[in-house]
Amino acid sequence: MNPGTNSQPSCTLQPSSLVEIQAAEARLLVQTYERNPLLFVSGQGVHLRDEQGNEYLDLLSGIGVCALGYQHPAVTAALQQQIHGLWHTSNLFYHRGTSELALRLTEITGLDRVFLCNTGTEAWEAALKLTRAHARMLRSQGKTIGTGILAMQDSFHGRTMGSVATTHKLKYREPFEPVMPGVSFVPFNDVEALRAAFSTDICAIAIEVVQGEGGIRPVSAQFLAAARELCDSTGALLLLDEIQSGIGRTGKWCAYQHYGIQPDVTTLAKPLAGGVPIGAMLCTEQAARAFTPGMHGTTFGGNPLACALAIAVIDEIKQSHLLDHVASLGSYFLARLRELQTRFPCILDVRGMGLMIGVELETEALARQMLQGMMERRIVLNRTHETVLRFLPPYILSRADVDRTLHALSELLATHSTSPSPHASVVAGETIHG
Ligand SMILES: *Cc1c(COP(=O)(O)O)cnc(C)c1O
Repeated sequence: MNPGTNSQPSCTLQPSSLVEIQAAEARLLVQTYERNPLLFVSGQGVHLRDEQGNEYLDLLSGIGVCALGYQHPAVTAALQQQIHGLWHTSNLFYHRGTSELALRLTEITGLDRVFLCNTGTEAWEAALKLTRAHARMLRSQGKTIGTGILAMQDSFHGRTMGSVATTHKLKYREPFEPVMPGVSFVPFNDVEALRAAFSTDICAIAIEVVQGEGGIRPVSAQFLAAARELCDSTGALLLLDEIQSGIGRTGKWCAYQHYGIQPDVTTLAKPLAGGVPIGAMLCTEQAARAFTPGMHGTTFGGNPLACALAIAVIDEIKQSHLLDHVASLGSYFLARLRELQTRFPCILDVRGMGLMIGVELETEALARQMLQGMMERRIVLNRTHETVLRFLPPYILSRADVDRTLHALSELLATHSTSPSPHASVVAGETIHG
């Protein structure tokens, strides 16, 4: 079949060109995504290749998932070995991977127990269910604690019903109402508002240590400390969502380790198994007592394949000292972006930790334009919270890759700033630092 000559792509049995695939998806898929018009067919290291053989520098790693890039020898070796072993046995039986992975996860998070599942939202649901069960357990012991949950404005915790109930954006929540009741939203990093909203009605405070979809915003040290202190005062649980920021993304295993504060519960997912679906909810011994056999579960969770790959990812991050690399390259990336900010006032803010970085631009139109320009220069990234360019590159990124990115970005910004912008002078006055 010659894809270039097919005038009715929607009738093609085996769509293969980008145009044919677009037509087939438009006809066959539930329309939940707006995809970029790119058809990737392979990847190597930090690069993706499209069907025409063009190479792209990937600064998004499949939304923070492919943290060791593509075809990493440690990951492919684990996969190859597992091909001849078991992929699934169900949670009715033992296999070797579960405890080996749990040992590593408890060691790197400082928490005591693990529940393994398949996605981020599923890990977050486990955290929410544990929270409610824990409060019930406390009530049965005579303590006064309610069922309310304090979540943050601009939060994102996933797409299932409990997760959307704790997700702030109305667009993600409202069409599905009624969602799980009992959630109130507190302005992120507003300590006074947190204290005012907290009472014995509350059984958990839920925080992303670095808000991802909310525009790459790290929690403040005072806010996190206040949340810890409030939870300690009543027995409520501190839930820290590290699905995007965990497993080395910020230069530590978990972003909360930058603050010296331990949660009662944390959730991990995106980069944990190098591209294969996995999720993990970790908690303290005390919180774990709220779950007894049969109360919660999953068919696929913690299967031998996902465990083998997660073990390989964790061991490779340790052996290749990738936390140090992420921390130092991240500092370099941030410093160079801040330099760029002093030259281009349309950059309102540069935020982040390690290789989780956001560049907030003046307008949504400008952010779209920059993204488009970067794609044309074969550099993949995305946009979050409308105006923020988001960088979640593989941990194996090099200084040369960062330099190439900065070069492309500054060229694009220079082109933009030569075209008239009605707000330019006002914004310049606000953002130039002394
Ligand atoms: C991506 C994400 C989730 C949801 O994970 P899924 O695997 O898409 O269900 C939850 N919380 C945070 C902070 C995330 O970034």
